[in-house]
Amino acid sequence: MRLQLERPAALGVRRGHPWVYREGIAPRRSGQPGPSGTSVEVTDEKGEILGRGLWDAESPIAIRMFEPGAGPKIDARSITKRIEAALARRDGRFDEKTTAYRLVNGEGDRVPGLVIDRYGEVAVVRLDTTALEPHLGAIVEALAKPLGARGVRSIAKRLAGDRGGKKIEGLRGPPPPDRIDIVERGMTMEVDLAHGQKTGAFLDQRESRAKVRELSRGRARVLNLFSYAGGFSIAAALGGAGKVTSVDIASGAHATAQKTFRKNDVDPGAHGFVTADAFAFLEKAEGRGERFELVVCDPPSFAPSEKAKPKALAAYRKLHGAAARLVAEGGVFCASSCSSHVTAEDFAGTLDDAALGRSDLSLVELFGQPEDHPTLPAWPEGRYLKFAVLR
Ligand code: SAH
Repeated sequence: MRLQLERPAALGVRRGHPWVYREGIAPRRSGQPGPSGTSVEVTDEKGEILGRGLWDAESPIAIRMFEPGAGPKIDARSITKRIEAALARRDGRFDEKTTAYRLVNGEGDRVPGLVIDRYGEVAVVRLDTTALEPHLGAIVEALAKPLGARGVRSIAKRLAGDRGGKKIEGLRGPPPPDRIDIVERGMTMEVDLAHGQKTGAFLDQRESRAKVRELSRGRARVLNLFSYAGGFSIAAALGGAGKVTSVDIASGAHATAQKTFRKNDVDPGAHGFVTADAFAFLEKAEGRGERFELVVCDPPSFAPSEKAKPKALAAYRKLHGAAARLVAEGGVFCASSCSSHVTAEDFAGTLDDAALGRSDLSLVELFGQPEDHPTLPAWPEGRYLKFAVLR
């Protein structure tokens, strides 16, 4: 099936952008590919073949590009080859001190729409497109060997949507456990595979957690806002912080965090776990005159769409101002954002002197995703993570 692209979409694909939106297809010069998962060949406006991808009948992203140029159809075999290249990219990059990391980062590993995260012996597959569904069975079958050779015994699937029940189901090998202990740079973390966020945990913050651990030495009081399962909290406690206060609106998150503390031989009783709205907490803490030598702020995404961006930036400024007011003199402020619509430059702008209300903090580091979350130069949408250190 051949589809012709409008000029701007063709330019994007030529540069390596992996997505074609539905409006990028010239309707009168294109066939009707039928069901999701059909292999399609796309051409530029002059009819020259640009590459091959998979058709998605439902998403606004109508085609995800897999291979450049002319050639055979995209099928489970060619997709598996790409996945094996992604696995090879990680070989030797992680030792036994880090048992959880991303094995395949979708578009960034040139397997658009497919994420595989590793939690010890369990691999969790997430599909971001219905185009991969008809191919999944054959892909999983083909992956059993290369994943097995790397120590993965169970392959599971992250279920789409939120039906309230378990968010994971086994595909191959022993059924995945609901909860699993993983190790990250020697630090144990309990991960809720059955109900957790993302595919269970925020693996993309590995380097940020290491940074927080390093920055926590000798800091008497650390505040972790939007603490979830306490990744930054345990990093701070192990790094030498006196007392770590974790704030999250979900009390269930604290229960997991406390278990993680115990598994690292840290007494959760020596630390604070507050179930509260972070904004309300900040207001009250300021009223009480509380200060912290290190504040970490990693909220959920504020910008679900490009349209929501101005509002999101205003919300970040407000949050950053309230958080920075609690940073003790000589302290550190770490701020993060996972909104792909907010660029690194946008994000830095929400940390300016007017937003923070102080002139003693400089931006000393601003980094993004770690190496197991690669992106493509032509795909800025993939560079969603920002982690800023101000001191
Ligand atoms: N910083 C975490 C990830 C944050 S996920 C980590 O490194 O793992 C977002 C978290 O924010 C969720 O746990 C959610 O319960 C919490 N949350 C959402 N809105 C909140 C609010 N208004 N106040 C406090 N916590 C909130």
